[in-house]
Amino acid sequence: MLNKKSIDDINVKGKRVLVRCDFNVPLQDGKITDENRLVAALPTIKKLIADGGKVILCSHLGKPKGEPKPELSLAPVAKRLSELLGQEVKFAADPEVVGPNAKAAAAEMKDGDVILLENTRYRAEETKNGDAFSKELASLADVFVDDAFGTAHRAHCSNVGVTKYVETSVVGYLMQKEIDFLGNAVNNPERPFVAILGGSKVSSKISVINNLLDKVDTLIIGGGMAYTFAKAQGKEIGKSLVEDDYLDYAKEMVEKAEEKGVKLLLPVDTVVAKEFANDAPSRVVEGSMEPDEMGLDIGPKTRELYAEALKDAKTVVWNGPMGVFEMPNFAAGTIAVAKALADLKDAVTIIGGGDSAAAVNNLGFGDKMTHISTGGGASLEFLEGKELPGVVAANDK
Ligand code: AMP
Repeated sequence: MLNKKSIDDINVKGKRVLVRCDFNVPLQDGKITDENRLVAALPTIKKLIADGGKVILCSHLGKPKGEPKPELSLAPVAKRLSELLGQEVKFAADPEVVGPNAKAAAAEMKDGDVILLENTRYRAEETKNGDAFSKELASLADVFVDDAFGTAHRAHCSNVGVTKYVETSVVGYLMQKEIDFLGNAVNNPERPFVAILGGSKVSSKISVINNLLDKVDTLIIGGGMAYTFAKAQGKEIGKSLVEDDYLDYAKEMVEKAEEKGVKLLLPVDTVVAKEFANDAPSRVVEGSMEPDEMGLDIGPKTRELYAEALKDAKTVVWNGPMGVFEMPNFAAGTIAVAKALADLKDAVTIIGGGDSAAAVNNLGFGDKMTHISTGGGASLEFLEGKELPGVVAANDK
């Protein structure tokens, strides 16, 4: 259990409560194309409204690089949140984020009102965790609530700096839920515990592989990172994605798995093509690829092998696609893994955000998973065993 104070431990009646949410949602022509992060933030916001707080929401959106960019305004989020909450979320349009408009809007609030500040990354200091902007944010609040798991691995003004200038800093329900699910899975899993890692690079998941090998019973590897392992084992991988600097590391991980008695599963067949394109002719290869071929998905035997390895799992953590799933012709491996997880009746299944979360949701398996994390980067750092600055900054219980 997370040893941090939460919104259940404080009284917010009549108080100004600044809530850091993760409203970093994808937008297309001003429309939100995936609102999972907004929905995930609702329980905390509703609780604070019900308890009579004056709820001041803030978040970043995209990378405006320290200046106002109208296409990255949080205005569409305020509109959609109003609909989801069934109550007005007043948008405090203000290019300075905490400028005259925001201060005026905050001053007019009654108990149970909700306002949303402008994109915190309109201010260059935000990502530098500077004092001035942290103090400005804190000046709006009596209490600070951090519910932005997706940014918890970063130390910025709006999640870490602000806590220096507010007496009470606690975590919200989403943050608590994310840490509890991930923490329990990793530190206290019901076994067998299987981790599935995919995605493009070994280099970005080194520490995760290393840390998970100390914890899991089975580690399944797929995606582009599998070819570095294949090459390290002397296989011909054509022009597949590979990181030559990590060949030794891949060998070490295979040895570590053996020492620890962890079953390390690597692809036994691969869907290859000569071009990185959905309509490129493809074939399945079990042995060596031709020099002009590249691996773009796990093959049918691997899909079966992985589904079989997942059948008895009681805890599963998944991060990263099994192939180039954005191209429908190379999505079968990722779909097979998502389906194998969705079919598990009696297991805790945790999807570590990012691409795997998108894949599971797009396939309509979202409600079959125990927990889909709202933070790809944050959940990876958590799986590496790192402390998340956004969590550390909250008051201890
Ligand atoms: P990551 O951000 O490291 O989790 O990687 C996700 C990306 O890896 C997705 O955009 C996938 O298209 C890509 N990917 C997965 N498998 C492969 C592969 N075999 N070759 C190239 N890219 C891949």
